[in-house]
Amino acid sequence: MPIPPPLLPGTLIDGRPATLGVLGGGQLGRMFVHAAQAMGYETAVLDPDPQSPAGRVSQHFIQADYRDGAGLAELARRAHAISTEFENVPADSLAQLAGTRPVAPAAAAVAIAQDRSAEKAHFARCAGAGGVAPAAHATITSEAELAAVPATLLPGILKTARLGYDGKGQARVATRAELAAAWQAMGRAPCVLEQRLALALECSVIVARGRDGQAVSLPVQRNLHRDGILAVTEVHEGNLPPALASQAQAATIKIANQLDYVGVLCVEYFVLEGGALVVNEMAPRPHNSGHYSLDACDVSQFELQVRTLAGLPLRAPRQHSPAIMLNLLGDLWFDAAGRPRTPPWDALLQLPGAHLHLYGKTEARRGRKMGHLTFTGASTEAVRASARQAAALLGMEAIG
Ligand code: ATP
Ligand code: MG
Repeated sequence: MPIPPPLLPGTLIDGRPATLGVLGGGQLGRMFVHAAQAMGYETAVLDPDPQSPAGRVSQHFIQADYRDGAGLAELARRAHAISTEFENVPADSLAQLAGTRPVAPAAAAVAIAQDRSAEKAHFARCAGAGGVAPAAHATITSEAELAAVPATLLPGILKTARLGYDGKGQARVATRAELAAAWQAMGRAPCVLEQRLALALECSVIVARGRDGQAVSLPVQRNLHRDGILAVTEVHEGNLPPALASQAQAATIKIANQLDYVGVLCVEYFVLEGGALVVNEMAPRPHNSGHYSLDACDVSQFELQVRTLAGLPLRAPRQHSPAIMLNLLGDLWFDAAGRPRTPPWDALLQLPGAHLHLYGKTEARRGRKMGHLTFTGASTEAVRASARQAAALLGMEAIG
């Protein structure tokens, strides 16, 4: 298919301002909307929630289910090109939109990322020559496959093939009996059993790939998870051994190329205690670990999403400051006795290099992503000093 011409910002198309659409109205959609609007586009958001973080800041908002044909048609009327921010958006809906408008990422790539089995098969295909392999694993969709699981995968982690996030839909299992019980408890849904690995650290890479196949990547992010949820991301010189960082970047570009991916893609990796790199999973969209790019890079992951969607030029982003990002979960909106509180924003904003981002969610719940706080500064030490003080002010577990 010929590459469509770029959708230039601030232009009129059929008498209406160039408009970018996004399926999903969460915080990722909200930051996409901010980036698109800053560049002069209008935006359209589709989300079932009338109070969605992105819907509330977009010029156009369509309140509809992700499968609602009329809602999708309205989005396609409003927006000249459409992206997604929500991993579990039905691939069929993206395919419907693609009938009339450019859609990035494509339904086929999103469908692979939605299914851990298909995702791991894709990683395995990319593992040779410059690629990185996933953990040893087996797919379980039947009693026969359950019985045939090799003993070497135990102790392991059983993960539902679909709809898992933030460590949900996972069970640690040490024996065959525990495995069978965990699969029962998951309603015998299709699952992947992965060998449990000894992790030294975790990292992720964000790439943006254009319609012409050109790919650029952000620097490698080092991530700390707590209770299965991203807690801290550090991006600065020395966050990872340089050879590992380049290996992860090259492997991520290979994964995107082999999918003929268009858009922003994040791939998560484990670094094992012996130093080996293992690929974990991918997200077909900007990622929580890339939020530091808003404040520490000359092009953010959301601007990259805008550029790939609109067919604009891609330049490799330059990080102009070391960065540490702290995720702000709803837990911080409660004191030790469980009473509601407002986190100490005034004291936090006194800290050098603090950049506060709140997503406009009205109700704080434990584990809910409410915002993030990124620190930038002249040196990694300065950034770390601010981040440590912030963690203490928030009552968060200390950072390294
Ligand atoms: P996300 O919110 O990133 O989508 P998720 O629920 O899809 O999370 P994973 O990223 O697969 O789940 O796992 C969550 C965390 O659990 C990982 O970041 C890692 O800390 C740990 N983990 C997952 N798989 C393994 C493994 N095979 N061995 C050891 N630890 C693991
Ligand atoms: Mg993960």
